Amino acid sequence: AKEQGRNTYQFYEPEMNDFIYKRAQLEQGLRKALELNEFTLLFQPQIELNAGKIIGNEALIRWKHGVAGMISPADFIPLSEETGLIVPIGEWVLRKACEQNVAWQKAGFPPMRVSVNLSARQFQQMNLVENVTEILSETGLDPQYLELEITETIAMHNEEYVIAKLNALKKLGIRIAMDDFGTGYSSLGYLNKLPIDTLKIDKSFLGDIKEGQNSEICATIIAMARNMNLNVIAEGVETKEQLDFLFQHKCMEAQGYLFSKPVSADEFVQTYLSIQEV
Ligand code: C2E
Ligand code: CA
Ligand code: CA
Ligand code: CA
Repeated sequence: AKEQGRNTYQFYEPEMNDFIYKRAQLEQGLRKALELNEFTLLFQPQIELNAGKIIGNEALIRWKHGVAGMISPADFIPLSEETGLIVPIGEWVLRKACEQNVAWQKAGFPPMRVSVNLSARQFQQMNLVENVTEILSETGLDPQYLELEITETIAMHNEEYVIAKLNALKKLGIRIAMDDFGTGYSSLGYLNKLPIDTLKIDKSFLGDIKEGQNSEICATIIAMARNMNLNVIAEGVETKEQLDFLFQHKCMEAQGYLFSKPVSADEFVQTYLSIQEV
């Protein structure tokens, strides 16, 4: 404590140094990961509950790190967003997801849509619409099979800008889903103005359906989606009880561990076949 006055680095607690070091290392690693092709996509089926058939899948990124092994997006997407690395990473995800979808169609599977997460940072990119156009044409994916998942965080920006951009994306013939719905702060009035096709009920609301409040929220979101003529899908469905709830409230699309966790492209084909047989 006596030394403090002399040392300008007094604020740098060892943990702080460690934190900064780890961040810098992570950022460096992420830059390399793109070059080294260390990212991979997993696919989680989305089920139409009436028919019990797969109608789509969500593409979810993983990082196969040479030393650390499989790294979950929760551990690198936030920093990717901060540093802007999410832009090239997201572009890679979109291209890969479209390519895979086309490959499955060419292999003879009935066409299904693919949902790709779009971060707010990507959404802000000037050339987003051009990029999506280019990727669709390069991969040959029919736009009706692509859905982009946005979150309420895009609503932090100028309303006209957001609406115009979403309209431009919709003009390409793709679909737009509002992900994690209910966790953000956007108003219903605002939501109503956005040209979206689907509401994804956040898994936190489905988490404990037995708790009165959450089931109320779920039921409200489902009813609201219906009134707004939107498609609605529940994510994070893990139990038969949750499934019954969805049936009861007529939410006829779901995604979750009850059906399948996210799996590799190879495993997806197996999952696909097994779920179609049920
Ligand atoms: P998200 O978009 O809300 O994706 C759903 C997350 O819930 C996935 O986690 C998925 O594996 C998990 N999940 C699915 N079913 C269940 C279930 O029944 N129970 C539980 N507890 N979890 C379930 P994941 O793959 O770890 O991704 C986490 C988040 O990382 C995503 O949340 C998304 O925000 C972000 N992310 C993943 N891939 C990408 C990407 O390619 N681009 C961007 N920008 N973000 C991504
Ligand atoms: Ca998502
Ligand atoms: Ca979500
Ligand atoms: Ca989420």
